[in-house]
Amino acid sequence: MILQGRPVADKVLAQVREGVARLQREHGVTPGLAVVLVGGDPASAVYVRGKKNTAASVGIASPDYVYPEGLGQNALLELVDRLNADASVHGVLVQLPLPKGLDEDAVVRRIAPAKDVDGLTPTNLGQLLAGQPGTVPCTPAGCLEVLDHYGAKLEGAETVVVGRSRLVGKPLAQLLLARHATVTMCHTRTRDLAFHTKRADILCVAAGRPRMITGDMVKPGAWVIDVGVNRLETGKLAGDVDFDSVEKVAHAVTPVPGGIGPMTIAMLMKNTLAAAERSTQAR
Ligand code: NAP
Repeated sequence: MILQGRPVADKVLAQVREGVARLQREHGVTPGLAVVLVGGDPASAVYVRGKKNTAASVGIASPDYVYPEGLGQNALLELVDRLNADASVHGVLVQLPLPKGLDEDAVVRRIAPAKDVDGLTPTNLGQLLAGQPGTVPCTPAGCLEVLDHYGAKLEGAETVVVGRSRLVGKPLAQLLLARHATVTMCHTRTRDLAFHTKRADILCVAAGRPRMITGDMVKPGAWVIDVGVNRLETGKLAGDVDFDSVEKVAHAVTPVPGGIGPMTIAMLMKNTLAAAERSTQAR
């Protein structure tokens, strides 16, 4: 089975559209997502455009703050402070990676946790670890949404996560753990990667290494979630999973593009709506 992300993302976006309309009707509030882009990285510009287009399609306002490379750390922190204080802004998204010379950690830390719709501040990551409600990072949340939509059973499942980044691997492992999966995390120092991946009922890969997981590394009948997005020299996109060989062995696998990619943006919209809803409760 091919785990298409688009229909799942469309389902989430339809719910968000309804929620936005309800918030406008009942509270006169339009959710606002401030998008900050510094520097001219072409991939980041494409992501930002996708986020803004999707926001518009569900009725979320998304003012953007675009600066050329050279914007200073203090100016960026002041912008974040301004957005934190702006009542029309419910979510603050700083597109990563930032250009060299800017301290990404300090910028992320400066975002008010209530407006941290990427779920990357220490407060929100800590809440995830503590098992308390908070904002969950969009890509891992999207992986769970896909698994749930297509009916994967997580409880008691042997799950293996390849990659341990703050953005994907670590929060994904926590989400799986919270759903009672048995979780193994792999990374570059893992001694025998295939030994682990071959045991997985559910294998999630977020390593940024094109087609590193091949069919012989996958347990027959497994569910495989490919988070990787890698631009090949040919210009084509490839995941971290070698789709053709893995599809023959696995029960189900996400494609790249069209798998987890659309989910990430949909979950960002969901997080922005939730932040706007919380702001009306706090008043
Ligand atoms: P990252 O910060 O570079 O982290 C990669 C992780 O993979 C690291 O923990 C690294 O281990 C591990 N790793 C790398 N090579 C490995 C290998 N050969 N064997 C085992 N582990 C290995 O990347 P990221 O931000 O998590 O992103 C991962 C991928 O997902 C990228 O392709 C990125 O473009 C993609 N992505 C997609 C979306 C989406 O919306 N679809 C969103 C975010 C990211 P160490 O910690 O030991 O270095």
